[in-house]
Amino acid sequence: MTQAPQSVPWTTTNAGIPVESDEHSLTVGPDGPILLQDHYLIEKMAQFNRERVPERVVHAKGSGAYGVFEVTNDVSQFTKADLFQPGRRTEMLARFSTVAGELGSPDTWRDPRGFALKFYTEHGNYDLVGNNTPVFFVRDPQKFQDFIRSQKRRPDNGMRDNNMQWDFWTLSPESAHMVTWLMGDRGVPKTYRHMNGYSSHTYMWVNGGGEKFWVKYHIKTDQGIEFLTQEEADHLAGADADLHRRDLWEAVERGEHPSWTMHVQVMPFEDAPDYRFNPFDLTKVWPHGDYPLIEVGRMTLDKNPEDHFVHIEQSAFEPSNMVPGIGPSPDKMLLGRLFSYPDTHRYRIGPNYNQLPPNRPRSAVNSYAKDGPMRYDPANVAMPYAPNSYGGPAAAVQQFGDVAGWETAGEMVREAYRLHREDDDFGQAGAMVRNVLDDAARDRLVSNVSGHLLNGVTRQVVDRALQYWRNVDKNLGDRIAGRVNGG
Ligand code: NDP
Repeated sequence: MTQAPQSVPWTTTNAGIPVESDEHSLTVGPDGPILLQDHYLIEKMAQFNRERVPERVVHAKGSGAYGVFEVTNDVSQFTKADLFQPGRRTEMLARFSTVAGELGSPDTWRDPRGFALKFYTEHGNYDLVGNNTPVFFVRDPQKFQDFIRSQKRRPDNGMRDNNMQWDFWTLSPESAHMVTWLMGDRGVPKTYRHMNGYSSHTYMWVNGGGEKFWVKYHIKTDQGIEFLTQEEADHLAGADADLHRRDLWEAVERGEHPSWTMHVQVMPFEDAPDYRFNPFDLTKVWPHGDYPLIEVGRMTLDKNPEDHFVHIEQSAFEPSNMVPGIGPSPDKMLLGRLFSYPDTHRYRIGPNYNQLPPNRPRSAVNSYAKDGPMRYDPANVAMPYAPNSYGGPAAAVQQFGDVAGWETAGEMVREAYRLHREDDDFGQAGAMVRNVLDDAARDRLVSNVSGHLLNGVTRQVVDRALQYWRNVDKNLGDRIAGRVNGG
């Protein structure tokens, strides 16, 4: 084999052919025109023009690391899911993100944070795609697109606009709980390591005996909750736009592996219809006093991606990836997301996105899917249809045939959820303000909200916002009004 007369490998084209120069295009004479036959130059320019895949429309800027999830408590009476059985250790990937900002936006803008986990289980990928918030702004996927557009940029001037945000929020009172949360201390975590994750949605768990439960996940940081004040966040947005990405990367590099302890709240299946809140409404929590946290296990992030684009930008999480023992609930937002996540991946990184390194299951894939752009793996079925007479895979109905579902019937309607006894849009937000926040946190909430409202929000929308906050808590609303009205 020919040896390169140098200590580093020789540069090649993408096809592995040694190149003639790293610096000079092929020209007719040193000052002459560039020749079309400079294949290497053309390859470099063409590749560069295609370096980006479409940016995620939400959660565009993300950071992540690989790790492991270890079960620390026996929850097998609630689920048969392989990854939650006693003693199990499952490799995983986590991606944290901001929501409304773009790929290059500062990490410290006030925004919810995505908290997406992929567990490489014996029965395929289990994705738990949550946020650092236990609730969300809307409860029906019909409103999701509108909500996101109100948080992004105006069509005319291309700028973000507080007026659009408050206009949407105040016309959508179900947002009050989440907006209270967002405008509070946890709306800007100090780092990704210092925030909790929540499933937010309710899911179903099914045990080995076929018994069903409703669950909510709480993934609590072992580093402790820490936050940035608005002033600190504003300063850091300019000083280090990649602060949270840097912090996570550097912590993992120096061996300070961040960890989180997973808990679940478990509601007996039959409690749901008469629970005081609609347990499937994404704008509500289940108070801890009603359903205490039960420990499940610990996740530890211990390995940085070797290539950010390959492993984090191309990672694709989807709530529809549920393994046996886990199922959806009647949460309408969750049901909408079951479609929209895989759909956006097909658009963004192609229909074979599950063959990309971060998404590739570590268990066998015996799928009848075939072909399509960027397909790498040969089909491992002899005939591309089922049933076939050539030993193709067959569904293991005895083992996996049970549907994690529920009984339902009724007329087709377009209506809000049926209200439960204590359901309203403001009650739980008010409970947080009065019972959870201390005086200093309430002061910061007043300051954060009034500062936001004083920045480009029209009088009409401000007035609606003041009523919105009085509905959350009269005293809080009056204090915000005092600030905003210059009192
Ligand atoms: P609890 O007193 O049992 O729980 C209150 C929880 O609030 C804490 O456990 C903590 O959750 C969270 N919390 C503490 N400080 C803040 C903060 N500054 N911003 C946001 N959340 C904070 O009461 P309940 O369960 O009855 O809930 C009362 C209210 O607390 C709810 O209406 C909701 O607004 C809020 N809350 C409730 C959660 C739940 O799942 N029950 C979760 C988070 C908030 P954590 O331990 O998860 O950090």
